[in-house]
Amino acid sequence: DTSDAAYGDEEPGRVVAHFGRHLEVEDSHGQRYRCHLRANLEPLVTGDHVSWRRGSDGSGVVEARLPRRSTLARPDARGRLRDVAANIDRILIVLAVEPEPHPFLIDRYLVAAEATGITPALVLNKLDLLGDDHPLHALAHRYRTLGYAVIGATTRREEGLTALAEVLLDVTAVFVGQSGVGKSSLIDALLPDAELRIGELSLDSRKGRHTTTTARLYHFREGKGALIDSPGIRDFGLGHLDEREIEAGFVEFRPYLGHCRFRDCHHRREPGCAILAAVENGDIAAERLESFRHIVDEVQAG
Ligand code: GDP
Ligand code: ZN
Repeated sequence: DTSDAAYGDEEPGRVVAHFGRHLEVEDSHGQRYRCHLRANLEPLVTGDHVSWRRGSDGSGVVEARLPRRSTLARPDARGRLRDVAANIDRILIVLAVEPEPHPFLIDRYLVAAEATGITPALVLNKLDLLGDDHPLHALAHRYRTLGYAVIGATTRREEGLTALAEVLLDVTAVFVGQSGVGKSSLIDALLPDAELRIGELSLDSRKGRHTTTTARLYHFREGKGALIDSPGIRDFGLGHLDEREIEAGFVEFRPYLGHCRFRDCHHRREPGCAILAAVENGDIAAERLESFRHIVDEVQAG
């Protein structure tokens, strides 16, 4: 390191963006500083809480990474798992009337979220298009019964985002979900204009030589909550999962796991399968078991 700046005392901060060997760190007032890193630091990603010192030249230096409460990781081009964001509290899975949601896909996002230990919730967007007798009401009910929050939203009506904004007041969240469900529109409506302009700048830099898509932390209009976003995060959950992760990601299967006759039971037609028995008793929805099998087949097919 060649900087001659004099540095102040250590203070807490949060990584809001990552550019190769430099970081942007936010202080407790929301001011952002370009920082370099002390040697031998643990790897840092957007969302990390750090201890840092501000320098006399307006930059800063990161001294330490503080303990994480969660990590979002995904495989890179070579299939190696890489951390992309830290300290996320909620994974919001966005779905909508159109494009028509695929239950397998929702379950796939849920399984991936469950594997991180971060609480997922569903955002049912485009409420303005949802008729009273639409099958999405039944779908929402099924997930509520499993214990998931389902938050209605629309970007087309005044007050359409009140419930969602309330959930986001104090949490760090990511939005995931299939293309076209309205993630960009929700983000546009929830972030202040200044934050959106920063986002556009970092999007432009991605089109250039930078092949890695780095995540950025933004603040919502209201409250102290934050959004961490990148194109790679938006389809988090569509990568590799193994069969044991998949079954554990179906929350209602958990009490039965380990109770099948065969330890490596695939819950297909094995005798003494506890999951099959639970479906027959009506304790597990047949659609969810079908979804489990579909996701396993899909993942194993590559
Ligand atoms: P993304 O691919 O998930 O980021 O989705 P976009 O935000 O690009 O939205 C896809 C389309 O849905 C666009 O044409 C939006 O204008 C539209 N859209 C987004 N939110 C709503 C909504 O609440 N109601 C309706 N009717 N359309 C919406
Ligand atoms: Zn079984």
